[in-house]
Amino acid sequence: MKQQSNHKKSRMLYSQSLKCLPGGVNSPVRAFKTVGGSPVFISKAKGAYLYDVDGNRYIDYVGSWGPAILGHAHPQVVKKVRAAAARGLSFGATTKLELILARYIRSGFPSIKKLRLVNSGTESTMSAVRLARAYTGKAKIVKFTGCYHGHADSFLVNAGSGSATFGVPDSAGISSNVIKDTINLPFNNSEAVIRAFELKGKEIAALIVEPVAGNMGLVLPETGFLKILREVTQHYHALLIFDEIITGFRICFGGAQHIYHITPDLTCLGKIIGGGLPMGAYGGKSEIMELVSPQGPVYQAGTLSGNPLATTAGIENLKVLSESKRLYEKLDATAKTLCEGIKEIASMHKISLQLSQLGSMFTVFFSKKKVTNYQKARGCNLTMFAHYFRIMLREGIYLPPSQFETNFVSIAHTESDIAKTVKAVDKAFKLLKKK
Ligand code: PMP
Repeated sequence: MKQQSNHKKSRMLYSQSLKCLPGGVNSPVRAFKTVGGSPVFISKAKGAYLYDVDGNRYIDYVGSWGPAILGHAHPQVVKKVRAAAARGLSFGATTKLELILARYIRSGFPSIKKLRLVNSGTESTMSAVRLARAYTGKAKIVKFTGCYHGHADSFLVNAGSGSATFGVPDSAGISSNVIKDTINLPFNNSEAVIRAFELKGKEIAALIVEPVAGNMGLVLPETGFLKILREVTQHYHALLIFDEIITGFRICFGGAQHIYHITPDLTCLGKIIGGGLPMGAYGGKSEIMELVSPQGPVYQAGTLSGNPLATTAGIENLKVLSESKRLYEKLDATAKTLCEGIKEIASMHKISLQLSQLGSMFTVFFSKKKVTNYQKARGCNLTMFAHYFRIMLREGIYLPPSQFETNFVSIAHTESDIAKTVKAVDKAFKLLKKK
């Protein structure tokens, strides 16, 4: 494969951006801080590929951090979004599109009887927690270290994703009063959950979890863990909130709740349901959702909520995904082929790694031991990951610029893309061995 080392225009744009955007970016992980080098500026994307301003092409495994399950600029989605734009960008009034999207979401998530559309994952989790507090009359929430639920104040305690990438346990600017109501526990540790509820159960409004964690790298729930969460929350009259912002419509036409057969009280969604445009949703049992304004006393609103472009993109994505079960089988097969290829090469070059995969999500952990929680993810060889990332980028493979993120494949990734990626991994591991 052609080596790609010309990033001249990207570097120039980055130095200019540093003057007007904090860190040169609008979301921290994009700055490539922990992997070194300067970020590439993307000019367009099509199918499985990203193109940068210097004319380099990359096979993309970030997929806009999850939404791009159909690949970039899927013709059907683009056509419908274009037509919607021509009818008006936003009305601030109710549309049929919101009803159609809500029905699609409900068809994938039977646990969601009613839902509210919002503009981001953060809005969704933040609103779900407010609702849980109102419903239970309690204040505390339980979350897991390394899970990321967006950037609302109460979640930025030992969070995953960008916050993990930078090793910042808390953000500055958050009042200690907010934090005191957040209880952090280690993921996959049922005893810690039971103990926390024994001690504080009367004060806990909700437990929020990524049932399949994607923000400390991909970490799967161990057998029985989610069931314990369901039982304990039920026992203590706390709500169980599944943050399926990544996993929703990603691992099946539904979410982790179907694969693991657990019914949460509330579910948070985002990413795929907006097909690449700003979107989130929270929903669940009617008696809980009916507390949301204007039906109930829990205030939550949004100027652009359920806007016609994002709903159209979401509807078209869900339409395509709902049409064939085989799409999810293909996604799983694509990711499996890639992971098998990576494993083989790692054993050939004697590189220690752990591969975690579920459907179209996967993470290569540079670790000798299985990664089951955030502490173990932090124990990975981060220097090796940074080298790996940079070599892969040079070889035309765009990976998430952090060990603490999941990779995604889309239906646009071909056998040839996977073969090229495996070849690049071979080159990378050969070089890593020499380090
Ligand atoms: N929850 C999860 C599981 C996420 O992965 C993310 C974003 N990566 C969020 C919440 C926050 O979503 P947003 O960035 O749209 O606010």
